[in-house]
Amino acid sequence: MPELPEVEVVRRGLERWVAHRTVADAEVLHPRAVRRHIAGPDDFAHRLQGHRIGTPSRRGKYLWLPLEETGQAVLAHLGMSGQLLVQPHEAPAEKHLRIRVRFADALGTELRFVDQRTFGGLSLHDTSPDGLPDVIAHIARDPLDPLFDDEAFHLALRRRRTTVKRALLDQSLISGVGNIYADEALWRSRLHYERPTATFTRPRTAELLGHVRDVMNAALAVGGTSFDSLYVNVNGESGYFDRSLDAYGREGLPCRRCATPVRRRPWMNRSSYFCPKCQRPPRTTP
Ligand SMILES: [Zn+2]
Repeated sequence: MPELPEVEVVRRGLERWVAHRTVADAEVLHPRAVRRHIAGPDDFAHRLQGHRIGTPSRRGKYLWLPLEETGQAVLAHLGMSGQLLVQPHEAPAEKHLRIRVRFADALGTELRFVDQRTFGGLSLHDTSPDGLPDVIAHIARDPLDPLFDDEAFHLALRRRRTTVKRALLDQSLISGVGNIYADEALWRSRLHYERPTATFTRPRTAELLGHVRDVMNAALAVGGTSFDSLYVNVNGESGYFDRSLDAYGREGLPCRRCATPVRRRPWMNRSSYFCPKCQRPPRTTP
């Protein structure tokens, strides 16, 4: 599943390759790749035709292409294996090509949505005055957003009777932090994932947010990290990069700080990786 840095890498690719191009036509090769569109895939394709794509935008893991002067945007759902590829017209169709968008210019490339498992797709939505697709209006800003409010996040942490990793994955508090980067930021912060947030001090919240931003920026610097070999970024290069990880996926390997073997524990149908020495579990209250 791509996380924020991977999605940002795709967004940057789209900004470079498809922004400000006008759609000549769209072809839907698999109806399920067009989501939540009652009027059907042909109507979806028709609604893109003739419109210029604005600057591709992102909030958390959500990525969309604004359609200029329509008040609408195309939201991309990458799901587990979805890819947005910019390919030369003459490149052979991918085995799992679902949607093809051609442009009214002579640049010679087209946008393709490819998805092996058809969990992902594209959908068309009205946008709010600030350009956000209506279906993601409830999603909080992400920590790389210049308008993310650190103080409001701290106060929300204090108010909620929750634990730190649940809070990091709560998209109404902070968006774009998934399992991998939550474990990485918690390792850097020396915080156990079950630590209650009610007692967090401002410095502790600030340190945690700093580490969340650092791990994401580090991943961005190397083109995103992904554990799904099917995931390929918009230029067709693999975004796979794992050497920057300190906790996630390192069960049994020595902690890079103290050499204690990293542990893995089941957590909400996923796993949490942590160092039992650097990240002490909170004392259990009876
Ligand atoms: Zn350690």
